[in-house]
Amino acid sequence: MRIGAIEAGGTKFVCGVGNEQGRIEDWCSFPTEHPETTLSKVTEYFRDKGVTAIGIGSFGPIDLQPDSSTYGSITTTPKPGWGNCNVVETLKREFPVPFGWDTDVNAAALGEVTWGAAKGLDNCVYYTIGTGVGIGLVTGGKRVHGLLHPEGGHMRTRRHPDDHFPGLCPYHGDCLEGMAAGPAIQARWQSPGSELPADHPAWEIESFYIAESITTAILLHSPQKVILGGGVMQQSHLFPMIRERVVQNLNGYVNAAPITHHIDQYIVQPGLGQHAGLCGALALGLEALERVTSAS
Ligand code: ADP
Ligand code: ZN
Repeated sequence: MRIGAIEAGGTKFVCGVGNEQGRIEDWCSFPTEHPETTLSKVTEYFRDKGVTAIGIGSFGPIDLQPDSSTYGSITTTPKPGWGNCNVVETLKREFPVPFGWDTDVNAAALGEVTWGAAKGLDNCVYYTIGTGVGIGLVTGGKRVHGLLHPEGGHMRTRRHPDDHFPGLCPYHGDCLEGMAAGPAIQARWQSPGSELPADHPAWEIESFYIAESITTAILLHSPQKVILGGGVMQQSHLFPMIRERVVQNLNGYVNAAPITHHIDQYIVQPGLGQHAGLCGALALGLEALERVTSAS
């Protein structure tokens, strides 16, 4: 069985084909341009692949209410041409197969529960800390939806006492994304994070904000695993700093062994590595196919 997977990012699109074991057999990537150009490239890629379903993990915000007339669209993004662009409808015209559709981070969380770092669990939280900050949630094996979908990247945290940076979020200024995404690091220190040494004060501040948010996520969602991905988390020295700060923040209140004794295995890198996003989309496609099969 061949399932199509699309990681629809604001910077780049990744398309791939994989099987029901989560193995990616082929993939390609191209920059995100105007939707007409980008979705034509997607169509071209899948044209001869013979996929039986397609999963899409997308940048957002997105419409994923099944009864909405605009289901399948990206909604209020400032990205030129993509506001109100109906990605699922456009692709469904070319490929009449079941489609899975969710945020990139909810998809990645599903992928990690299915095949990755949270395999065997039914609950996890997945962060991407890159150009933006996104948080995906799975509980009871299901992706969390509700009013819309979680928008945890825009939660507020306490401010680091030494940090006077106003924040970059056009909506909230100093929300988590405004303070901790890659562009905030670059604006605060006039240097991209990838060029700052491991002992630079940037990382104490960065780990503070991420740990603040994880502390809230643990208290609110009670995740069985916390998975941190995205470009900024390639600074692997952040992991011990974040773990230590989370333990300090909770101060023994959440009395669970993964936090008190095994924090190294609780706050972890994506198990699916560089393919976390694409495998997430693959898991969505597989889920969509199973839904249709079990209904018929
Ligand atoms: P996107 O979020 O667009 O999908 P990434 O997850 O790669 O892509 O995030 C890009 C952001 O991450 C940029 O702001 C970049 O400065 C930052 N970044 C990428 N690599 C590193 C690194 N090794 N160390 C610190 N920051 C990085
Ligand atoms: Zn914000």
